[in-house]
Amino acid sequence: MKTDLFINNDWVAAASGDRFPVVNPATEDVIADVAKGGPDDVDAAVDAARTCFESDEWRSLNPRDRGHMLAKAADLLAGRRGEIAELETRQNGKLLFESKIDISISVETLRYYGGWADKITGDTLPVSGPFFAYTLREPVGVVGAIVPWNFPLNIATWKYAPALAAGCTVVLKPASETPLTALAMAEVMLEAGFPPGAFNVVPGGGSTAGTALVKHPGVDKISFTGSTEIGKQIMREAADTVKRLTLELGGKSPNIVFADADLKAAVKGAQNGIFYGKGEVCAAGSRLLVEASVHDEVVEQLVERAKRLEPGDPLVRETRLGAIVSKSQQETVMSYVEAGKREATLVAGGNARDVNGKGYFVEATVFDDAKPGMKIVDEEIFGPVLAVMTFDGVDEGIALANETMYGLAAGIWTKDIKKAHRVAQRIRAGTVWINTYNMYDPAAPFGGYKASGYGRDLGRESLDGFLETKSVWVAL
Ligand code: NAD
Ligand code: MN
Repeated sequence: MKTDLFINNDWVAAASGDRFPVVNPATEDVIADVAKGGPDDVDAAVDAARTCFESDEWRSLNPRDRGHMLAKAADLLAGRRGEIAELETRQNGKLLFESKIDISISVETLRYYGGWADKITGDTLPVSGPFFAYTLREPVGVVGAIVPWNFPLNIATWKYAPALAAGCTVVLKPASETPLTALAMAEVMLEAGFPPGAFNVVPGGGSTAGTALVKHPGVDKISFTGSTEIGKQIMREAADTVKRLTLELGGKSPNIVFADADLKAAVKGAQNGIFYGKGEVCAAGSRLLVEASVHDEVVEQLVERAKRLEPGDPLVRETRLGAIVSKSQQETVMSYVEAGKREATLVAGGNARDVNGKGYFVEATVFDDAKPGMKIVDEEIFGPVLAVMTFDGVDEGIALANETMYGLAAGIWTKDIKKAHRVAQRIRAGTVWINTYNMYDPAAPFGGYKASGYGRDLGRESLDGFLETKSVWVAL
């Protein structure tokens, strides 16, 4: 297991010599002692990325060869899927089969952007006068990628893969809870042939290494995924250097069940929407909006299903609910559960748990009779806690769905295809799932409206965030 910083294709200790422990939240075991990057290390990594970006070696590299390197990294990662998935589960607490899905999406993302590397083109422009004009799409420069702990390798890949495809170089700062798979990925990138400085990994704290990256004049762009609170802080700190920003922030996504839905599918979708990944999912369907006439039936089925999700060892195949990422996150989630007990009706779960006396677990929890204005409805909990509300008719459903500062995702359950598309258009969110939930694909842009951020990960659109457009005029 790699536990040092990865800078300029070298494994190095932190300049300070400091290290920090990584804890398995399902067992409370310390599983690694990782070099703790600080401002000096960020400086070294940015210098390496800058030098690489400006080097003849990188500049003269054919885009197709960059694409081949990404494809090779995909193959190498695929070959290590089981091992790296297990590492992801051990540092994050999520179920092993979910970690395997994460690694598979990372592999596909690398392949997808490997394919884009030689297909980035400008336009010829119909300007007036005796001129020929065209645009060049050029890499924005050095990219700082700052990512959260919930999909550690996956979300990192959503950033460094398109950045490298566009011709940028990257300094990746993983979350301090989950640095290990990013470091494993550095091994992969080295073997895939990326030159020194193209891809660097500096684990460390947010307020130290993270802030240093955001403020660094040698960084041209920050691509951040994390909380809305830190996103706002990054916007302020990026102002002095006029940094480009992509911000993927929090969510409180509505999952809307109309009375004419396939209720069995809707309940299953509601369950996956909130309990997949222990609810530590930015797009989690954490507000379940149920049309009044089917409310009792939906809640009854949902409660039955929630009660079957027994917390357990996430490495064991039969387990259906893993560990919360950390003790402090467990405490945060439980403080919302306690608020919910005061303001709404608890119908399933509601307790912190351990497994064999260890670990940070929370039961699959459902609150009924929830309403806007309650903490459990208005705030992102980032845990396995669902707030159920009722509505009557399409307009009320849409209004309730949009009654949030967030706009990351939404689910719609109905057999009426016209209604489904009409409602999809009126939801202010970056992704809408109709009769499904939690679907991701490298080809589908992902990101937020409103306080869920701006810019997009994935798809062709993500590349725009790593490119500048230059207009070139030629007198004829
Ligand atoms: P966080 O905002 O606490 O931290 C995210 C990253 O930012 C971490 O690497 C952290 O070390 C770093 N960081 C913290 N303070 C910083 C600072 N001042 N300057 C620079 N970097 C700093 O988020 P988290 O607790 O790791 O993750 C949970 C949050 O992430 C939730 O709000 C969730 O909705 C959000 N999230 C959003 C998406 C999305 O695509 N929109 C995806 C996953 C998670
Ligand atoms: Mn946090």
